[in-house]
Amino acid sequence: MKVAVFSTNQYDQDFLTQYNTGHEVKFLKVSLSEETAAVAFGYEAVCVFVNDKLNKAVLDLLAVAGLKLIVLRCAGFNNVDLPYAEELNIPVLRVPAYSPEAVAEHAMALILTLNRKTHKAYNRVREGNFSLEKLMGVNLFQRTVAVIGTGNIGQAFCRILKGFGCTVKAYDPYPSSDMQDLGVIYGTLEDTLRDADIISLHCPLNSSTQYLINENQLKQLKRGAMLINTSRGGLIHTHAVIKALKSGIIGSLGLDVYEQESEFFFHDFSEDVIQDDQLTQLISFPNVLITGHQGFLTAEALSEIAKVTFGNIDAWYSGSELVNRVRP
Ligand code: NAD
Repeated sequence: MKVAVFSTNQYDQDFLTQYNTGHEVKFLKVSLSEETAAVAFGYEAVCVFVNDKLNKAVLDLLAVAGLKLIVLRCAGFNNVDLPYAEELNIPVLRVPAYSPEAVAEHAMALILTLNRKTHKAYNRVREGNFSLEKLMGVNLFQRTVAVIGTGNIGQAFCRILKGFGCTVKAYDPYPSSDMQDLGVIYGTLEDTLRDADIISLHCPLNSSTQYLINENQLKQLKRGAMLINTSRGGLIHTHAVIKALKSGIIGSLGLDVYEQESEFFFHDFSEDVIQDDQLTQLISFPNVLITGHQGFLTAEALSEIAKVTFGNIDAWYSGSELVNRVRP
C-alpha cells in the first residue's frame, strides 16, 4: 500500500523502517491539517500521531484524494472525528496498548522530580551550589494517590505506586478486579480526589471527561495536592489550574500534555517568543514541571507502535479482521 506518514521525527522513521512489511511509505515532517491534507493525494492510507487533526474538513479532503485507511500510531483517538470517518467508510485503526509502562513510568518520573526537586539539584550542583535549602520533599511511602482511569496505563501506574508503598485510590466507571486484588480502593470521582496527596490522570479525553479537573473539582482537593497529567491536555481546565497554583490549592503540577500543545510540542521554539501566555506562565512557576508529550518515548514503545501499525495495515490489505479498529 502507499502510506503517507505524517508528523515524523527521525526516531519514528527509524522504527517504522525497521518494521515495514513491504509498503511504499512516504515520511513527512508536517502534521496533518487542512493546509497539508493535499500532500496525501494518491496515498491509500495515512499514518498519523496525536497532534494530527482529522476533523470533518480534513476527512473530506482525504476522501476526495482516495483515502481508504487511517492508522493511528497512538492509543488515544480524540483527534479524529470518528462518526464522520465511519460515515465516509474509512476505517480507523490504532495501537491500543504499545507499552503502558512507558507512560506510567514517566508519570512516576514527574512525581519523583517534583517531589524531590532533582531538576533543581542538578542545576545547582553544576554551578557548585551544594545548598539543600528549599529542596525538601516528602516520603511517598503511605501517601494517598488518586488514579483517575485504570486502563492499561493506569494499571501499570497502580503497580508502580504499590511498589512505593502508597495508598492507591482510583476512579474508573469500569473498576478492574485485578486492581482490587492488588489493593486499589475504588470510589466515586469526588471521594477519590478529596483526600489525595497526588492525583494522576489516565483516562481518555472525550466529551464526558473534558475539563474533568475544573474550578469546582479543584475546590474539593486537599490543599497542596500534586496534580499529574500524562493523558490529554483537555482533561484539565488550564486557567482554573493556574488559579489553583497561585492560591496554593495545587502544590505542584506535572504535565506531559497541554490543551494547546499541537501548536508547540514536538518542535523547537527555543529562538522564538512563545505566544501562548498560559504556557509561558506555567513554565515560569517553580512548582510546575512540563515535558513535551514524551511519555511514550521509549525504545520498547516505539518498536511496538511500529510493529502494530504495520500489522494494522497488513490486516486491512489482506481483508483480515480489523481487531484494532476504533468505532464511534
Ligand atoms: P485505556 O483505554 O486502556 O484506559 C482508559 C481507562 O479510562 C479505561 O479503564 C476507562 O474505563 C477509563 N475511563 C473512561 N472514562 C473515564 C472517566 N470519565 N473517568 C475515569 N476513568 C475513565 O487507555 P490507556 O492506554 O490506559 O491510555 C490512557 C490515556 O493515556 C489515553 O487515552 C491517552 O490519552 C493517554 N496517553 C498518553 C501518552 C503520552 O505519551 N503521554 C501515551 C499513550 C496514551
